[in-house]
Amino acid sequence: MNILISNDDGIYSPGLLALAKVASKFGSVRIVAPDVEQSSMGHAITSARPLNYKKTPIEDFDAFRINGTPADCVTLGCFLWKETDVVLSGINLGPNLGNAIWHSGTLAAAKQGTLLGKKGIAFSTPSVSGEYNFDRIERFVIEVLELLLKDSRPNLINVNLPPDPQGLKWTKQSVRHYDGMVKPGTDPMGRQHYWYTVTPIEDTDEDSDRWAMERGYVSLTPLRIDLTDETALAQANQHAAGISRG
Ligand code: MN
Repeated sequence: MNILISNDDGIYSPGLLALAKVASKFGSVRIVAPDVEQSSMGHAITSARPLNYKKTPIEDFDAFRINGTPADCVTLGCFLWKETDVVLSGINLGPNLGNAIWHSGTLAAAKQGTLLGKKGIAFSTPSVSGEYNFDRIERFVIEVLELLLKDSRPNLINVNLPPDPQGLKWTKQSVRHYDGMVKPGTDPMGRQHYWYTVTPIEDTDEDSDRWAMERGYVSLTPLRIDLTDETALAQANQHAAGISRG
């Protein structure tokens, strides 16, 4: 199995190396990742200038750094390595839960893999007091890959690992609350500025990604590319049929 690994934290992230080491137990690994951090860039692609890559061996891995976004890395990686079967992204330094997955570069890399016909899996984990312990979650990353690599469906999965997991749970994306907020402030010159930040969410929906993580479970959320609201579409068609019957 040919495994392409990318992320949004940049090619030198310890989370990317931790994922590459685990993935190498499952197949042949190639790393194609952004040259600098691209967190919260979502699924942006670079179309106004050309991209290039530089070979950047990381330990024993074939690795390439690209002057682009996570989605660019996966596109170029799959173009240059056509035999790619699976795209893994992460392990992100920080969780990607609920509404955050709309702007997650980590998920976007996996999503770009799925758009190109590959299986895409995104991995994220929160820190404990600013520290990341990848040894502690390694066993669970292995368990997740054993589970997800054996079937073709689901083909896009968002995985979040708590610092000290006690098992796996399939979950849904928690979207009831939006946790983004704007915090105004002033700079040292007295000029107004604005920080885009997050507010903690207290009550979480049962069986959601956030709910599972709060209880110490690895959260696996199967996602789809098609965002169509099927209920709204059916209602709109029904309404349109009513109008045409007049
Ligand atoms: Mn990141």
